Amino acid sequence: MAIAALSISRMLFVRQLVTTLLVLSLCVGCGSSGSAPQAARTSSSSGYNGKSPIKVIATVGMVGDIVRNVGGEHVEVTQVMGAGVDPHLYKATRDDVQTIMGGDAAFYSGLMLEGKMADTLVKVARSKPVFAVTELIDESQLLEPEGSAGHYDPHVWMDVAAWSRCVEVVGSALVDLDPKHAEDYHKNAESYRQQLTQLHEYGLKSIASIPEQSRVLITSHDAFNYFGRAYGLNVQGVQGISTESEAGLQRVNDLVDLIVGRNVQAVFVESSVPRKNIDALVEGARSRNHDVQVGGELFSDAMGDAGTYEGTYIGMLDHNLTLVTRALGGTAPEKGLNGKLSHAGGPAK
Ligand SMILES: [Zn+2]
Repeated sequence: MAIAALSISRMLFVRQLVTTLLVLSLCVGCGSSGSAPQAARTSSSSGYNGKSPIKVIATVGMVGDIVRNVGGEHVEVTQVMGAGVDPHLYKATRDDVQTIMGGDAAFYSGLMLEGKMADTLVKVARSKPVFAVTELIDESQLLEPEGSAGHYDPHVWMDVAAWSRCVEVVGSALVDLDPKHAEDYHKNAESYRQQLTQLHEYGLKSIASIPEQSRVLITSHDAFNYFGRAYGLNVQGVQGISTESEAGLQRVNDLVDLIVGRNVQAVFVESSVPRKNIDALVEGARSRNHDVQVGGELFSDAMGDAGTYEGTYIGMLDHNLTLVTRALGGTAPEKGLNGKLSHAGGPAK
């Protein structure tokens, strides 16, 4: 059934893609967008030329990782954005455009994650197959943040079960591009999906080991709403707190109430958040005789360094799940699901 849906969407391809992306590019910055996951599939005779390996371009690491896992030896993946790059703000450089045009096919996440690359993807789609890996995720699985007017939260890789639908999109795309290796793609997709299922179950079990009242994730980035929904954490943002305004002070007090009232052991921060706001939380809790630690750094929009375990999608989520579990008083192995984590032992000093 999924395959049939894909074929239909292919027939509509360029017109739909170009329209969608043009609308999206007009909307960048206006905070609103019309529709659901943009179906971006094309099939073009000037795309893949049949040579092996297929040269695939991926925007972000999480997408590239699916292609690497499903494509195996038959693909060569070039990733546009590396570790630590913010995909919301990234604009393709002239070199990137050349790289993308030099590939046989391109994969991106979609849901407006790569908002500033819309124009580039439109251009590429005129002559190459372009795929949004999130296109099969059911709308009922997508979060629509308040005030976003139909614009879905793009951080869906934080829910491993939802993200695993993307494996299907990549599998079908590779089979279409290179039917002679179809069997390998099916086999690889199945094995990767199994690893993701295992990771998801590990996440459920680990987070459930945190005392129920302490399952609160206080973090600075808005990337963790799917994570909270999937694994059962109440997610609270630190963003926008300023102790210089009354509203800011109120927010600090509310969060301190929550930390003390629910015996929350750690808050998770990123370097972009002013330290004094975090200090205000820590001190506020301490003044009420509750010790809260500053947890280590979570991966949000980019994976860790290439060549490390954290530089894979599975490693990235294993890190987040394991770190959060251990810092909030739950039980998880120090080195995570696969015994490969390098620094998820507990809160950073
Ligand atoms: Zn983000």
